[in-house]
Amino acid sequence: MAWRSSGATNAELVENLWRNKLITQPLVKSAFLKVDRAHYAPEHPYEDSPQPIGHQATISAPHMHAHAVETLLPFLLPKVESGHQSTDGVASVIGQAGRPRRVLDIGSGSGYLTHVLAELVGKTGVVVGLEHISALKELGERNMAKSPEGRALLESGRVRFRVGDGRKGWSEPSPGDAQPGVGGAAAAPGVTKEQDKKDEAGGWDAIHVGAAATVLHEELVRQLRSPGRMFIPVNADTSWEQYIWTVDKDEHGDVKKKKLYAVRYVPLTDAPK
Ligand code: SAH
Repeated sequence: MAWRSSGATNAELVENLWRNKLITQPLVKSAFLKVDRAHYAPEHPYEDSPQPIGHQATISAPHMHAHAVETLLPFLLPKVESGHQSTDGVASVIGQAGRPRRVLDIGSGSGYLTHVLAELVGKTGVVVGLEHISALKELGERNMAKSPEGRALLESGRVRFRVGDGRKGWSEPSPGDAQPGVGGAAAAPGVTKEQDKKDEAGGWDAIHVGAAATVLHEELVRQLRSPGRMFIPVNADTSWEQYIWTVDKDEHGDVKKKKLYAVRYVPLTDAPK
């Protein structure tokens, strides 16, 4: 499948992903058209395949990015009141009307997906790219600064790259909130109602995990808003097999986990010494 979607330009790559039904939503297509993959992939940027970016990391293949974004889409689009149309002509009625979107991209690597996600959350949203290797956090920032649109996202604080262990999630104030960000939010046991409310305000509508976890980290599930969705590759117990899982938290806080299909991602690990 991979070679069928490759192109000579960014537009051609996206058009081929569309033609092969790897991108099916017009809003996803326009977000992919806005982000030039050549700013993020050092080699063969318009091939539908993963590419090395150093530090044993890879930028994922475009069709994987496309599937991740399509899966998370209902939790990315700016919320509008029920029955109203957003400026893009799409009504998104999930969740609390008017509350800005908050998205966490764990293992942000090249920063490519972080940028695409930011194109979808709109002007009020915030996307945090989290890396455990500082050189890759800086790479994401540098790559994003290659385009005027990317620079504007960084300067406005709508995209922030942070260093931390993604297995613990991340806590980050929204634009306009006074308190500073604190990495690795407190663990679940003993949380008070007050803490719950704070987490709900500071939690994430969508969490994307770009490296394979050994378990479905409960701390990440806890940091999902109600409603919220996580997209995460997880290693099966016994072998090298990995599967994409989605974890949905509904508006009542009930959690549903779903195993989708087999994939191959680099592992979510301890930071190298
Ligand atoms: N979404 C990125 C994928 C990069 S590869 C892209 O398409 O460019 C996976 C990334 O996960 C690597 O950059 C790696 O450094 C990072 N990673 C691995 N374990 C991590 C952890 N515990 N916390 C945060 N990032 C981690």
